[in-house]
Amino acid sequence: MTQIFDSPDFDEHEAVHLFHDRASGLRAIIAVHSTALGPAAGGCRLWSYASDQAALDDALRLSRAMSFKNAVAGLALGGGKAVILGDAAAKTPALFEAFGAAVDSLGGRYWTAEDVGVSPADLAHARRRTRFVAGLEGHPAASGDPSPVTAEGVLRGIALCVRRLMDCDLRGVRVAVQGVGHVGGLLADKLAAAGARLVLTDANPLLAQMVAARTDATVVSPEAIFDAEVDVFAPCALGGALSLQTLERIRAPILAGAANNQLADAATGQAIFDRGLIYAPDYVINGGGIINVAAEIRALERGVRYDRGWVEAKLIRLTATLDEVLRRSAAEQRATHLIADEVARSRIAAAEAAAA
Ligand code: NAD
Repeated sequence: MTQIFDSPDFDEHEAVHLFHDRASGLRAIIAVHSTALGPAAGGCRLWSYASDQAALDDALRLSRAMSFKNAVAGLALGGGKAVILGDAAAKTPALFEAFGAAVDSLGGRYWTAEDVGVSPADLAHARRRTRFVAGLEGHPAASGDPSPVTAEGVLRGIALCVRRLMDCDLRGVRVAVQGVGHVGGLLADKLAAAGARLVLTDANPLLAQMVAARTDATVVSPEAIFDAEVDVFAPCALGGALSLQTLERIRAPILAGAANNQLADAATGQAIFDRGLIYAPDYVINGGGIINVAAEIRALERGVRYDRGWVEAKLIRLTATLDEVLRRSAAEQRATHLIADEVARSRIAAAEAAAA
């Protein structure tokens, strides 16, 4: 029998909802990990899962991760996530209208947004049936592409790590950027503008050349990026860039980038600490994107415009939280990813205690 309550990813989820709609063929899971800090917020992923169990595991894992990310970003939002089981190539407006109805049935306990396989156009269909959708286009509350805010948060996080370890600003600091897509490309621009010297790579060689041309960077192959002689290694591609294997090759004393799930496993987080390297926990440093989405939810709830000033205040707080994580890691002699989890859990627990 499928295990749910005892599965490692369940972690005391408040609710896990299964939805089916015969007319549109919708099969979806909405997992709500925690609403202690506010309504659960997290994107909707459309994916062709190998099994229902794989979809459930993904929903639970991503939903809990959103609780932690929202909490460390200092947002009045809990954690949730939706997955639609299906083929992104076969998606229809009716599918997303049915998904919108599913979201609406939760009465605001969960706000949805974009994730893999889901576009703003899909969300517009969902919005016909529910108001609990962020990621709108052409609306005064719309927050637009989150990548620039994510990149700005990562830049500030890198600058903080460099100040702590090297006692200098970014001028002349050598940074390897792995992946120069939406976030990595903007990060490279910002780093170059701050005077950093860049080595970069991308699975798409044309993109790598394009970004290198405007940032005066050296391009290396995706495999060679791990051997680059740099001060900072910034994973901005897919997850799992930091593993016991890649750690053998990475020369940088600072590991800080935009990618989600950078640590291949917990042992890597511990090994990073044991080697005296600084790791900026991924879901702390890349929280700019969810802050931007939160600004849209806030604007929609209040019937006001998207407020860039509010986003800036949250970004400042995010950098302060990263500072707290790094300082505690040094003082308590424990790995940063463990401290970040503790900060998130204690903020959630404090909200639960206040509500009780
Ligand atoms: P993206 O798809 O635009 O960029 C990723 C880039 O990485 C692509 O150009 C791709 O070609 C490249 N790539 C893939 N595998 C590679 C490899 N092995 N070596 C080198 N390059 C490789 O995605 P994005 O929106 O820039 O997001 C990048 C990462 O940041 C993802 O892990 C994402 O989950 C995370 N993130 C993004 C945001 C955001 O606001 N977009 C927010 C938080 C976290």
